[in-house]
Amino acid sequence: MSAVLDIKNLTFSYPNGDFLYKNFSLSVKKGEFVCLLGPSGSGKSTLFELICGNLKQNNGYISHKKMAQIYQDPYSSFHPTYSIISQIKDAVKRDLTKDEYLPLCEKLALDENLLHEKPHKLSGGELQRCSILRALLLKTELILADEPTSALDNITQLDVLKHMLKTLNECGILLITHDRALAKWCADKTISLEHM
Ligand code: ADP
Ligand code: MG
Repeated sequence: MSAVLDIKNLTFSYPNGDFLYKNFSLSVKKGEFVCLLGPSGSGKSTLFELICGNLKQNNGYISHKKMAQIYQDPYSSFHPTYSIISQIKDAVKRDLTKDEYLPLCEKLALDENLLHEKPHKLSGGELQRCSILRALLLKTELILADEPTSALDNITQLDVLKHMLKTLNECGILLITHDRALAKWCADKTISLEHM
């Protein structure tokens, strides 16, 4: 099956820093749930920014199909002055009916009324689920998620991930996490940054 994310021989260091990646390769295929596992400071968010094109690698190449991102910080994931639902509608760039998003809200245990609020009215966990909702509604071939469930309790976290797993027929997922148990539970393939 074709790769929705392909990273080959990536080398990267911040200016005056040590190499975080040296000849690093990784691929995610459609239908695959891949976890990038590593402790704090191992370079997980850096890889996220490299994939998004916000940082430039020293060497190697990164290519990906149409991608939705879920950021680590739920508070910076939405613009502060507009309602969540208007921002989701802007992102998907098509008419969004309640029939489409209400079942997803239910699966994510997200009260629909919250979508009509501005971000500051929501908790970190609620914003994370809004961010996941937006990513699922974008119907992209790749979902790139940096610690997307860190603000959720364990039960909700598993429910949310179970739902993400169900979308796998249509896309590939790269989940960035420090949580080994979580990676073991949901990943088809885990790439560990610990021994790099
Ligand atoms: P993780 O997401 O795994 O916690 P990061 O990718 O955020 O790790 O950071 C990896 C390393 O790169 C850390 O040592 C961090 O201090 C360093 N780092 C992160 N951002 C920058 C930056 N903009 N400039 C220099 N060093 C950075
Ligand atoms: Mg990080």
